[in-house]
Order: sequence, then structure tokens, then C-alpha cells
Amino acid sequence: MEDCIFCKIINGEIPCFKVYEDDRVLAFEDINPIAPGHTLIIPKNHAENLFEIPDEDLAAIHLASKKIARAMKKALAPTGIACLQLNGKGANQVVMHYHFHLVPRHEGAPELPITAWELKPGDMQQIEETAKKIAAALND
Ligand code: 5GP
Ligand code: ZN
Repeated sequence: MEDCIFCKIINGEIPCFKVYEDDRVLAFEDINPIAPGHTLIIPKNHAENLFEIPDEDLAAIHLASKKIARAMKKALAPTGIACLQLNGKGANQVVMHYHFHLVPRHEGAPELPITAWELKPGDMQQIEETAKKIAAALND
């Protein structure tokens, strides 16, 4: 897609530090890494977000994430790996081409705000009602 920075990376118009590629996906280093080894996995066919991406591409990304996470574990010995994926401006998605972040975590690294939320018990009635709404929408 024209004017999509990640499509330009796929087409070779913009360089990247590639770590993995197959028929459906490309994985490369984030140029503003939260941590060393911060990697993005993207579908080769443009899709903006989780609502648009075809199942086959989504599956390919998750299978690739497993391979890359294993390689990260071997190469970087992290204490954990955070997987993050944002959909829409309201979720702070900045690049509008679906991408799955893999962020290796190490002892003493600053907390990732999204992985360090405070655990406060919710309102059980509200939780139940919301679950019912989502479950019902699945059958629409
Ligand atoms: P988002 O907030 O949309 O999930 O994250 C977009 C990510 O893409 C950011 O972490 C940002 O650093 C990364 N990014 C933006 N432009 C480029 C680029 O041209 N090359 C690479 N490798 N990463 C980029
Ligand atoms: Zn694109």
C-alpha cells in the first residue's frame, strides 16, 4: 500500500535489520527499541489491524513468533519475552500496518507500563455482564 512505511520495508524501498522471513511474514528489528532485540513481525500483505488481517497471515505471524522467541532466548538469554500488539489509535497504534512486537525482558530493565498494571479486583457483576455481551456478539 502506498505511503505505508512497513509496505515500503517489505518492498525494499526502506532498509531494515531483518531477522526472519517466510512466504507470508517478515520480522525485523524496531528502530526505536524498548529493549535490545525488540522485534516486529508483520504480514507481507498489507492489513491494518486485527480486524482486517486474514486468518492465514495471523496464524503465520504467531507461528513465526514462536520460532523467533526461541531464537531470542538462545541468543539473548532474556528473563522473559513480552508479546504486544496494538489496534487503532485509541490503543496507541502508530504504524497502521499490523505488527506483532516481541520485546525481550531483562532483570533491572524499566517496567513496560502495559505489563505492569496494578491488580485490583473488579466488580464481579460488571465482569459477568461484559463477558455476556462479548460472548453474545460472537454469535451475531
Ligand atoms: P505501534 O505503536 O504502532 O505498535 O508501534 C510502531 C513501531 O514501529 C514503533 O515501535 C516504532 O519504533 C516502529 N517503527 C516506526 N517506523 C519504523 C521504521 O521505519 N523502521 C522500523 N524498523 N521500525 C519502525
Ligand atoms: Zn502496509
